Amino acid sequence: MKITRRNFLQMLGITGVAVGGISRVWAIPDKWIETLQDGPRIETWKMSTCGQCPAGCGIRVRLIDGIPVRILGNPIAPVNSGFTCPMGEAGLELLYHPDRIRQPLRRKGKKGESSWEPISWEEALGRISQGLQGLLKKKQADRFGFFFGDRNTLLTHVAGEFVTRMGSSNFFPWRAPGINELGLWQAFGEFPPLAFDLEKTDYLLTFGTNLLEGPPSPVYFNRLYGKLKESRPRTGLKMVHVDARMSQAGKNATEWLQVRPGTKGVLALGMVYVILRDKNFDEEFIARYTQDFRGGKEDFPSMVSRYYHPDEVSATTGVLPETVLRLAREFSSAKAPLALAGGGADRSETALFSQWAVASLNALAGSFSANGLWREPVPLPWGLSPVSSVNTRTGVFSMKPRLARETDLPAHWASEELPHLRSAGKFPDLDVLMIAQVDPLYQPIDQKPWQDWLTRIPQVVQFATLVNDTSPYADLVLPTTTYLEQWDATLPVPNLPFSQLGLQQPVVSPLAGSRPVGDVLLQLATDAGIPLLPEKPKSFAGYLETRMKTIFASGKGTPYFEIVSLDFLDELRKRGWQVYSYPAFADFWRLLQEKGGWWDPGEYPEVDWRKRTKFTFPTVARLDALLKERALLSHGREAQKGETPLHPLLEAPIRKAETQDSFLLAPFTTLMDMTGEGASQPLLQEISGLIPRVYWNPWAEMNPERARKLSLKDGSLIRVVSGKGSAILRVKILPTVSSEILAVPFGKGHKESGRYAKNIGPNPVALIDPLVDPLSGRTSWESTHVRVEKVNK
Ligand code: SF4
Repeated sequence: MKITRRNFLQMLGITGVAVGGISRVWAIPDKWIETLQDGPRIETWKMSTCGQCPAGCGIRVRLIDGIPVRILGNPIAPVNSGFTCPMGEAGLELLYHPDRIRQPLRRKGKKGESSWEPISWEEALGRISQGLQGLLKKKQADRFGFFFGDRNTLLTHVAGEFVTRMGSSNFFPWRAPGINELGLWQAFGEFPPLAFDLEKTDYLLTFGTNLLEGPPSPVYFNRLYGKLKESRPRTGLKMVHVDARMSQAGKNATEWLQVRPGTKGVLALGMVYVILRDKNFDEEFIARYTQDFRGGKEDFPSMVSRYYHPDEVSATTGVLPETVLRLAREFSSAKAPLALAGGGADRSETALFSQWAVASLNALAGSFSANGLWREPVPLPWGLSPVSSVNTRTGVFSMKPRLARETDLPAHWASEELPHLRSAGKFPDLDVLMIAQVDPLYQPIDQKPWQDWLTRIPQVVQFATLVNDTSPYADLVLPTTTYLEQWDATLPVPNLPFSQLGLQQPVVSPLAGSRPVGDVLLQLATDAGIPLLPEKPKSFAGYLETRMKTIFASGKGTPYFEIVSLDFLDELRKRGWQVYSYPAFADFWRLLQEKGGWWDPGEYPEVDWRKRTKFTFPTVARLDALLKERALLSHGREAQKGETPLHPLLEAPIRKAETQDSFLLAPFTTLMDMTGEGASQPLLQEISGLIPRVYWNPWAEMNPERARKLSLKDGSLIRVVSGKGSAILRVKILPTVSSEILAVPFGKGHKESGRYAKNIGPNPVALIDPLVDPLSGRTSWESTHVRVEKVNK
């Protein structure tokens, strides 16, 4: 049979799909299809690591005559053991996307106009290296900056080194903060590198933390939740999930508790009230490793007893006083209780307050020091120190919350605020800015400062596979490879109890004239005379190999070796380890590529609290001081008392739906879109609303009672109006949504990002009012009042 493009794709079951008039066809190069006409159709598999999110799942790619046709999970990768999420499987849609940029593009019109002309790679690189050399000659290296998406990879490290070796300190990582980060950051005065081990807990209390539908590692935590649920009859484990909307985490919990939006921290302190009154807390941990617990009128217990009586907490949170009492007693009586805050609590006006309150629950229960719940990640033995990702020279960012400086912010968090910091004169002007692996203009609730800032920078260079929302403000757009066409090494997030390195290797040569970012950076460093790496590698792959030699020389860990269950540590202890023999580096390197990665199954050690900063409890004085210091970051506005929500000690208003047609907007993330990347892949668009059965377009989840009062049915069209704008959405009626919120998925409404994402649905962030968490300075996503109008069609 003569193989045509059409029947090749049909053979793979990937044609004949037309959604919304869009025919979904992979843009496989013609010459590959032609080759197949005479090819023997040999099937091969190649191991690599997924690059769709930072979790670093192992993948195996099926190839027919060298052409990638399917992605599955790598069964011997310990983080995912053969499973992937839908995004992991959809990776080929990124590889074969018909709108991939095929040549470097130079801006023709004004910034913001999206008008381009193609140029050669040589010309593009020449222009960039000229810009960099100019800064070096004028000794103005600090006018260079680099925005880099947060992937814990070797490439991220090299990008950070590029900035440092250039002589600048403006490396801006971009990512959402991890679970509990804000609370731990404030409580410990630093980002303690801590991992929690869910398998050790017998009582898991999650305040909005949705481990099953987003970072840090949804596949790992889905498997772990399954295992924990199975073992429940034996272990008696209880999982309680607290949120205003039922997510997958709520569905999979033993108990789901609905709270009013933004009140999770108040509920946590209501529980603290009961625990203190019952005197059922870990005296030893408190005496040895905490401060501000006892100190008179101003201490933590005094604040809690004054403001967080269960009756008052009930009035604020909507949770019955007897439930507050029961939760507190269950938590404090458990052998190994663990409380996590995250998810919604990360982006509310009470984000820092809530997470600090939840961290206090862990401190009181002694869970930080008991039963191995919190562990200390062991650094990877590859001879690299963590990337210096903060602008320490100008003092704008810091990893330590020193209370005397209003500008001390975690670097990734401050990245979101850069234009504001720039206009407040807290950051130097830039002449050259590079952007890679991130689309910073897609997420901000206020795009204008970003547009103005990028317009003022003379040379903005973007590395991208698709033109995205940031591209119109770039001067040069360089076509880059996807994770399926390049080398890299991925370290997963530290919330796993073992070390792992996922090897990313090209399953196919670069398509569409694209080049790997790592190789481009090495080339630019050579051209501009930047001493990037002491090893002087010729290619990024060569540099990766050098780092793997260091791991080999350490003698630690092993390439992935066999299918292991989640009980692997127990299994291994019982029957001993199977260890490969690799006498020379060449053998180790070959195995690494064959198996897809390396890991060290030894558990992380328990945290030695004697070596750590003492835990600080929140007190009135500390909250007040923080409030004053952060005021400057509230986008130039002084934080007003009246703007501080749900903070009983500050007598602030509680945000609530005020009229029959008003709601609080509550954007949430899904496993199909995570932070918006999934929108460019049609498979993910088709299943994006799998559970509410709404596809391609976003929807608005509404409580049945509210829908009835507004005469709305399932599927009715509504106009959602905020102070910022309006959007048309389809209603999905769900009894598991708080009557006060209108829950809308985040991830759609791209202005660019290819034909499958462009102008599909509204971007909910465009509706969000510019309100901030006054304690942290971060923008809030959960404080916007919206009005709902029925659209008659
Ligand atoms: S969780 Fe992340 S890394 Fe794992 S398969 Fe999904 S997208 Fe890929």
